[in-house]
Amino acid sequence: METMGKHLIGDPEARIKYIAERAATVEVKFAVPPLKYYRSGVEMIRMANTYRVEGDLEAAYFLYHKFLTIFLEKINKHPQYNTIKAKDKADNQKLLRETLPVVEQLKAQLKAKFKLEAIKYIEEEKERLKNDKEKPAEFEKKCTVQLPDDLDKLSEDKKGLRDIIVPTKIIREFLTLAYVNTVSNKETCGILAGKLQLNRLTITHLLIPKQSGSSDSCLTHNEEEIFDYQDQHDLITLGWIHTHPTQTAFLSSVDLHTHCAYQLMMSEAIAIVCAPKYDETGYFMLTDHGLNFIARCRESGFHPHPNEKTLYTHAQHCKFESTAEIEVIDLRAK
Ligand SMILES: [Zn+2]
Ligand SMILES: [Zn+2]
Repeated sequence: METMGKHLIGDPEARIKYIAERAATVEVKFAVPPLKYYRSGVEMIRMANTYRVEGDLEAAYFLYHKFLTIFLEKINKHPQYNTIKAKDKADNQKLLRETLPVVEQLKAQLKAKFKLEAIKYIEEEKERLKNDKEKPAEFEKKCTVQLPDDLDKLSEDKKGLRDIIVPTKIIREFLTLAYVNTVSNKETCGILAGKLQLNRLTITHLLIPKQSGSSDSCLTHNEEEIFDYQDQHDLITLGWIHTHPTQTAFLSSVDLHTHCAYQLMMSEAIAIVCAPKYDETGYFMLTDHGLNFIARCRESGFHPHPNEKTLYTHAQHCKFESTAEIEVIDLRAK
């Protein structure tokens, strides 16, 4: 596959095929419940639509193809595929039917765009050839160039992570609404949701699901409420936040497993851990090694992992904004 990055800039069909092929390498991990893929699929389409509207046709085409690959070819091989409710399958079918003609239209647009780029490139090279009196062989070589690969921002590759804007207010807001639990030594958790705009992800909402916490864990209930809210407000899941009432800010083995599911669905997903007793906040993500390791780990509950410190790291792609607003939706009392 090492030739994948190299292709003819003068061959629009090959460029389009290359995007689709890259999207088709997406893997459905059996460690993640299939319902998470169905939720993630909705968000994939949401992001693809944004890219399309903003004119980033390649990124849109890549995401639509990823969606098609998962739901037309791969999800039915998941061992828990039969746990998906008829309603979720029907919603997904509807989305597939709506997506197919969009992808065809996009493909035609891309072809036109790539054709223009190919013509422009060849013209420019001919012009240079005339001036430089280069040999024809040199010209041939130049037509086979490594394209500036915009797709990398979407790959699972760490270097390509999009920025995630974190309003600094979120910590104070979250600690305030967690306070009653914190003083009774109970964890609190919330979902970080937001938007994609111009290839940047911004956390705009803090969603607090119904939950029951203990000193070292937090279980969410009625997650449907969260999904419904996100669907109504076009929100993408960007990670989660929780308190450690008496401990420092780190990811426990259980936290690592929780976060693995988030990060497999969205490479940029972060885990924020607030440790008010130590006045400490951690912004974490799994390393590549950590993601692979935890996705394969079959243990549950608290359990040791070898070299736990190599499994996760500080999320470098977090950009903090002190003026950004955050909307808090507390579903606990409802
Ligand atoms: Zn924790
Ligand atoms: Zn484990």
